[in-house]
Amino acid sequence: MFLNSKRIGKTKPLFYFLVKVCDIIINMMMNKKVIFFAIFLIITLSIVLFFLYFPKKDFHENKILDVDIIVDLDSKYEINDKKIKEVFNLAADLLEDRSGVKMVNRQINYLSKNNKKIIDMVHEHLKNSVDWPEAVIVFSFGDDNFARRMGGYYRGTEIDKTDYCSEYKAGKNQLPILVVDWHNWYARCGYDENYNKVSAVSFGGQCQNTPNISCVIRQDKIYFICERNKNDLRADLDKHTAYIILHELFHGFDKRQGYHYGSPQCQKLLKLGQKLSDDYEKKSEENFGFCPSVYEDLKNSYNHCP
Ligand SMILES: [Zn+2]
Repeated sequence: MFLNSKRIGKTKPLFYFLVKVCDIIINMMMNKKVIFFAIFLIITLSIVLFFLYFPKKDFHENKILDVDIIVDLDSKYEINDKKIKEVFNLAADLLEDRSGVKMVNRQINYLSKNNKKIIDMVHEHLKNSVDWPEAVIVFSFGDDNFARRMGGYYRGTEIDKTDYCSEYKAGKNQLPILVVDWHNWYARCGYDENYNKVSAVSFGGQCQNTPNISCVIRQDKIYFICERNKNDLRADLDKHTAYIILHELFHGFDKRQGYHYGSPQCQKLLKLGQKLSDDYEKKSEENFGFCPSVYEDLKNSYNHCP
């Protein structure tokens, strides 16, 4: 898709060389004995020229959502490529299972946020990329620790690069950025905003907005969790991280605005009426907290890159 300037640079002297060759051939054509050889040579040279000038086939044209990952070194996660790929593949398998859309990780870049904004890190990454991704995951506490507090958040960035083409369009020339807190503590209990343990029971919005739920230490001893959530699927930190990746991705492709699972908009889209079903929490978890209408929206966002 992107005309590579280096390729054009190389072909320029070649062009003059070929013009010279054609000149010689025309001179040779004056001699009728070599006319057929000359025609053959001209056709061959035309084919070579055509392929040299023909733009390289775009990497994006693979019917796969191509994702780059940035790790914010300042968040000081214990993290490595192998572990990241495991979690990413977990999310990719779930996405394909639910929506039929494939996503693949192309590269992992470790950068320091350095008191800058997430968006600056993404642009720093893109500046050094030959071929741009169709979505970026940033493992980070986020701007103002927002991902640390919430688990993750979505933000897109408008791209003014005219030759950028994404097979999955989140918006008009919008590149989806998913800011995800790596191994965010799902259903943490008794902690303040800075992750200090200050209570033996839940308070504030903890344990699904239910105060005074017992906080129990997990089997892995990593943190205290709301007792009633200790056996949830997302009590597994890898699964929770994959869940957040998908949840935030869906915010970028929610064309019909179904929003979160169980929201009035979602209930309306699914023709479920006002009342939430009894298995609401299970269904919500199965759909990563998002309205399942988004699977169709994501599929329909497919855009053919010429
Ligand atoms: Zn959300």
